[in-house]
Amino acid sequence: MRKTLTAVSILLLVSFQWAASRAAQTAGQIPEAAQNPQPDARFKADILVIVAHPDDETEVTGYLARAIFDQHKRVAAIFGTPGNSGGDAVSNAQAAALGDIRITEAHEALASFGVLHVWCLGGPDTPGQNVLHSLETWNHGNALWQTVRLMRLTRPEVILTWLPDFVAGENHDDHQAAGVIATEAFDMAGDPTVFPEQVAPPDNRLGVSNLAEGLQPWQAKRIYYFSDADNTDFLVGKGPEYNTTDISPSKHTPYYKLAAEEMAYHLTQNDTGQLAKHALATGDFAYFKQPVRLALGKSAVANTSVSGDILEGITPGAIPYVPPRGYRQEARQAVSVELGGPWAFYRDFWRAHGLDHLALLLNPPEMSVGNGEQVHVPILIRNDSDEPVEVILTSTLPAGWRELHGTARYPVRPHEAYTAHTLYLTASTAKPEWQTLHWKAESNGQVAGDVTLRLRTASSGLPQ
Ligand SMILES: [Zn+2]
Repeated sequence: MRKTLTAVSILLLVSFQWAASRAAQTAGQIPEAAQNPQPDARFKADILVIVAHPDDETEVTGYLARAIFDQHKRVAAIFGTPGNSGGDAVSNAQAAALGDIRITEAHEALASFGVLHVWCLGGPDTPGQNVLHSLETWNHGNALWQTVRLMRLTRPEVILTWLPDFVAGENHDDHQAAGVIATEAFDMAGDPTVFPEQVAPPDNRLGVSNLAEGLQPWQAKRIYYFSDADNTDFLVGKGPEYNTTDISPSKHTPYYKLAAEEMAYHLTQNDTGQLAKHALATGDFAYFKQPVRLALGKSAVANTSVSGDILEGITPGAIPYVPPRGYRQEARQAVSVELGGPWAFYRDFWRAHGLDHLALLLNPPEMSVGNGEQVHVPILIRNDSDEPVEVILTSTLPAGWRELHGTARYPVRPHEAYTAHTLYLTASTAKPEWQTLHWKAESNGQVAGDVTLRLRTASSGLPQ
């Protein structure tokens, strides 16, 4: 009986409201809809730093101190991995436990700079030099999906990330993967057809179980790269450079000291946290006085000067999407030979993303190898003709090296790419020096192509 009365009451109420609404419309008083909510302003960033490991941000903190403390710019950061494969200078904690510690160190370090919006993509720390290995272990699609989302959430004007290139020296494959994913996200976050569920509006944002994310597409305006290669002279003139010896007007201390203070939170790491702790204790800041050197990747806005300030001429606010050129198959001669694996990927990647100038940074390409270690170099033999071919691959080695695999006659079917896995044992000399590996491909008695790779030998070729 009670239920029946309630139902009747609701029916009467709805009827009354419908009648009132009709009356208002008849009177020309159409009700005003609620305001469409703006993106969450708390998360807006001027600069989004996308790196691989907790402590990678220290590569640019000598600049970030200036941007944050004296220019009042908002910074957010994404780490690809928690750094679970690094060493631990403090305790025995390793692997997953170390990852928990290191990501906390990163939160504390960045919080000291006022940076509280910090995320980790959760990829496993994968030491090596081959970017394709990190993209595999990180679950490339998942990492990109997260990064595009965070770019849409933080709506950065400028992205700072690792250089997507294979450089000799400390050039970790995870670092390269962060640069690759940041570049891809830069070119995707403004496209509403990429991860459309992220930009679909929820049916009822105040309700529960909404399965659309309600973000908006976002085109960041510029992307800059940095490198931790032993020697970054190849980046001179490719972008802005920031002195760290300048005095912060607000902190009354040099930017290098602020950078050391931030770095000192990463105490598990000998080459960052412990180094900074020692510098702060002894006053020897030689390492920190190096300038922060950036290379302009590309710009989505006009009037960008290569070496100008990263935020120069940028007006906050949304700009139209700037699509990348995308992959296009290049015309090749009938039989050709080139470095395979990550080098072949980068050649296509740079062109697809309008970063052709990165191909000119290191020519010939280079890598690091350890003394007395095996080095594997994939050589890609392409047959773009309609007939099967036999390609004879030979190599010229540095003195004291030994070929374990590679020289052979390779049968390559029409329109096929055959990867020859060449393998060498390096000499056991101790001093770091540059060597050259050279390959020659012949087909039907004619030279079909040749490949050169510069290798820097050192005690170990493995990045830390
Ligand atoms: Zn790192």
